[in-house]
Amino acid sequence: MSKHAPSHVFCSWPLYLIGVIILMCPFSIYAEGKTPQTSISYDLWIKGGTIVDGLGKKPFKGDILIRNDTIEFLGTPPRNSAIKASHVIDAKDKMVTPGFIDIHTHFDGPSSENPEDIALANFLSMGVTTINIGQCGDSPAGTDDLRAWLEQIERQKPGVNLLTFVGHNTIREKTGVGLRKTPSTSELEAMKNLLRKGLDAGAFGLSFGLEYEPGKFSEKEEWLALAKVVGRKGSVMSHLRNEDDDRLESSMKEFLTLTQVTNAHISHLKSVYGKGEKRGQEILAILNNARKQGFRVTADTYPYTASATTINILFPDWVNSANVDEMKKSRREELLTYIRTKVTKRNGPAATLFTEIKKFPNFVGKTLDDLAKDLKRPFEEVIVDEIGFSGASAVYFVMDEELQDVIARDPNVAIGSDGSPRSKHPRAFGTFAKFIRHFVVEKNYLTLEEAVRKVTGLPSTILGLKDRGLLKERYKADILIFAPKNAKDRATYLSPQELATGFDYVILNGKIALRDGKIESRYGTVIKSDL
Ligand SMILES: [Zn+2]
Repeated sequence: MSKHAPSHVFCSWPLYLIGVIILMCPFSIYAEGKTPQTSISYDLWIKGGTIVDGLGKKPFKGDILIRNDTIEFLGTPPRNSAIKASHVIDAKDKMVTPGFIDIHTHFDGPSSENPEDIALANFLSMGVTTINIGQCGDSPAGTDDLRAWLEQIERQKPGVNLLTFVGHNTIREKTGVGLRKTPSTSELEAMKNLLRKGLDAGAFGLSFGLEYEPGKFSEKEEWLALAKVVGRKGSVMSHLRNEDDDRLESSMKEFLTLTQVTNAHISHLKSVYGKGEKRGQEILAILNNARKQGFRVTADTYPYTASATTINILFPDWVNSANVDEMKKSRREELLTYIRTKVTKRNGPAATLFTEIKKFPNFVGKTLDDLAKDLKRPFEEVIVDEIGFSGASAVYFVMDEELQDVIARDPNVAIGSDGSPRSKHPRAFGTFAKFIRHFVVEKNYLTLEEAVRKVTGLPSTILGLKDRGLLKERYKADILIFAPKNAKDRATYLSPQELATGFDYVILNGKIALRDGKIESRYGTVIKSDL
């Protein structure tokens, strides 16, 4: 028997009963107690590491034997057993964990200018072996033919595994609902059909981007009708309507009404300008209360205190891409006051750092405050008259570390980088290394096994993955070998695209994808749901 089997519970039982039990459940005995086969040769033998299984169990010493893409043996082989393996990795003094699952990312496929994006090196280098794309309301590459898109990505051999959601904003656009508040009956049917088509192609659920166009115009009745199509086997994930501290609770509660019909997950849970541990606990209590009613409610977050998005996030609800010119004239004073107040609440113009700015490209890496001083104009006028509704992207230093750390430590909150290979925010290149460094190594907020569970077993359960996210026999061999103290995020706000370091091996589908920090080859695959 391997050390995981609860053999002690049988000790006081009569021997014949034990015999009956063994006869009755040959499967479980086989699963937990088998010894490595000596008649075959394994492809990879990870020898003598400390195994952190992804369930949160205490780490234990053991070996892992892999054949093809699968873990065939996990435990302590009997002494002197004649194991044959074509490749052996000595994992002594290292932790062996499941590959990390990044539950919230963005990827539209490689472009002709950047074909190397298919390597997804930013993810692989920080220990991520699976990414969840199609988030914040956007299907990958805005496609309404996910089957074809996924097939194409599969052929291009991605550098990590990927799975996707269907984007609500994408299906709203593709069915012609656009910026209108309520779809007609036939439009709603068309949206449901498009969603069904995406789920049939292997998507795991529906994602909302309720702070963006056109999703910001939609309402609960529409969401419920669509969430019913997803049902309880899948889930819905949402970028909430508003993350400002005074609007956060109502935004969360509005979205959580979908628990009536499906599993609800809040993406990049944060409070913009909220502060302190107590506030963090109040936010988590909303999720806990929903769980107490028996619903499956989860969230994810990233370990940074700046958000990153387009500049239109600073404009009021009543301004959109179609009416912005008209509003600039008819409600100018109101618009300027709104933006001045909003930016001031968001820690002022010095807390907005441009990552892209069409009209003033030399202000990338500088702040709104810098630009306003340079132009000698109030910052709200600079936004309205010089930058425009969709003229820039920025990172915004609007969060409080104490508050965000409380959220990140919650046992039902997973970690998502919200990153893409081209992202100009350090979270895309550093999230998982920083999570280990900050929460385990430096602050001791979490044990290693709990931190690992939050980035492996937990996201696997949230997504409904069947054979990834744990170190377990017959699971796919997505495995990391590393020493936690070596995990280093190197990306910063001014140099956001530095790859993370410290992972000795990243094994993907049974193959060595990264060794000593160097990427060897691309072994990712497309993971499909059976919704
Ligand atoms: Zn988002």
